[in-house]
Amino acid sequence: MTQRNDTPMRILVTGAAGFLGSHLCDRLLREGHQVTGLDNLVSGRMANLEDAVRNPRFEFVFHDVIEPFDGRFDRIYNLACPASPPHYQKDPVATAKTSFMGVLNLLELATRTGARFFHASTSEVYGDPLEHPQRESYHGNVNPVGPRACYDEGKRVAETLAFDFARMQGTPVRVVRIFNTYGPRMRWDDGRVVSNFIWQALRGEDLTVYGDGSQTRSFCYVDDLISGFLLLMEHDTATGPVNLGNPGEFTVGDLADRVIAMTGTRSRIVHRPLPEDDPRRRRPDITLARDLLGWAPRIPLDEGLKPTVAYFRSLLERQQA
Ligand code: NAD
Ligand code: UDP
Repeated sequence: MTQRNDTPMRILVTGAAGFLGSHLCDRLLREGHQVTGLDNLVSGRMANLEDAVRNPRFEFVFHDVIEPFDGRFDRIYNLACPASPPHYQKDPVATAKTSFMGVLNLLELATRTGARFFHASTSEVYGDPLEHPQRESYHGNVNPVGPRACYDEGKRVAETLAFDFARMQGTPVRVVRIFNTYGPRMRWDDGRVVSNFIWQALRGEDLTVYGDGSQTRSFCYVDDLISGFLLLMEHDTATGPVNLGNPGEFTVGDLADRVIAMTGTRSRIVHRPLPEDDPRRRRPDITLARDLLGWAPRIPLDEGLKPTVAYFRSLLERQQA
C-alpha cells in the first residue's frame, strides 16, 4: 500500500531541468521536501526550473550522471535521459551511456546510502509491440540495431540493472514504464508529436504527419503521470515495473485534427516519411497501476491539450516580443 509520507525528505531528482523532471521538482517542493535537482542540460532548460530555484529548499547541481555522484538522500528519482527521438538519436552513444553508466552510478549511490531508487523507464521497452494493449508481462519487440536502439535497449538494460541490484543487494527499487506524456514545458523544438503539431498550428505552418497518420499513441497529461510517480515511490513494497499512461488511444491523424480544431489555425496537414522502426500501435494496459496504486489518469486528451496550447501560445508571444 502507499503511505502518505508527511515527513520532509531529502530527494534527488536527475533530469530535473527537463519536461517531466521540472514538474516533479515543483510537486515535491509543494509537498515540503528538500529537493536537489541534477542535470547536464543536454535537452533540459533552466527556464523550466524558474519557480523551483526561487525556493530555499531547492538546490541545482550541474552534473552528468555518466560520472559518479555523491550525497545523502532518502529518495532518488532518475529521469535523466533525453526522451524525444531527434534528441536521443543525436548522440546515441551518450544516450546508451546515460541509461547504463548513469543508472549504475545512481544504483550504487542508492545502495551505499540506503536511498530508495526510482527509475523512469518507457513504453519503448515494448518496441513495435506484437501484443496490444501492452501489459507489463509482455517482453517486447525491439530492434537492437536500429536508430531507436540506443534509447530502447538502454532503457531495457537500465531495468535489468535495477532488478539485479534489488535481487543481489536488496536495493529498494521502483520502476515505471511511461507512455507518451505531454503538457506545458515540452520544448517547442523537441520533435515530439504533440509539441510539433501545436507549435506548427500556432505559427500557421503545415502539420507534419509522418506516414499516413494511422499509427496510434496514448497521451497522458503530465500532472496525472507525476501523481503516479509519487504513489509508486511511496508504496511500501511494490517495485514495478508498472505501466503509467492514459489508455485513450488516438491515431496521429486524429491528434492533428484535434490540434487544428482547438487552435483555430488555417494550417493544413502534410505527410512526411514514417521514421524507421516507428511503432504502429501503443496503448498501456493500466490494470496493475489501478490495482496496486489505485492510480488512473483523470485528464482526457482534449482537457490536457488546453493548458498545453496556452503554454505554447505564451511562449510564442514571448519569442515574438
Ligand atoms: P527531457 O529531455 O525533457 O528531460 C530529460 C532531462 O535529462 C533533460 O533535462 C536533460 O538535460 C537531462 N539529461 C539527459 N542526459 C543526462 C545526463 N547524462 N546527465 C544528467 N542529465 C541528463 O525528457 P522528459 O520527457 O522530461 O523525460 C524524462 C524521463 O522520462 C526520461 O528518462 C525519459 O526517457 C522518460 N520518459 C518520458 C516520456 C515522455 O513522454 N515524456 C515517455 C517515456 C519515458
Ligand atoms: N509524428 C508525426 N509528426 C511529427 C512528430 C511525430 O507524425 O511531427 C509521429 C511519429 O512518427 C510517431 C508519433 O507521432 O508515430 C509519436 O511520435 P513521438 O516522437 O512524439 O513519440 P514516440 O514515437 O517516441 O512515441
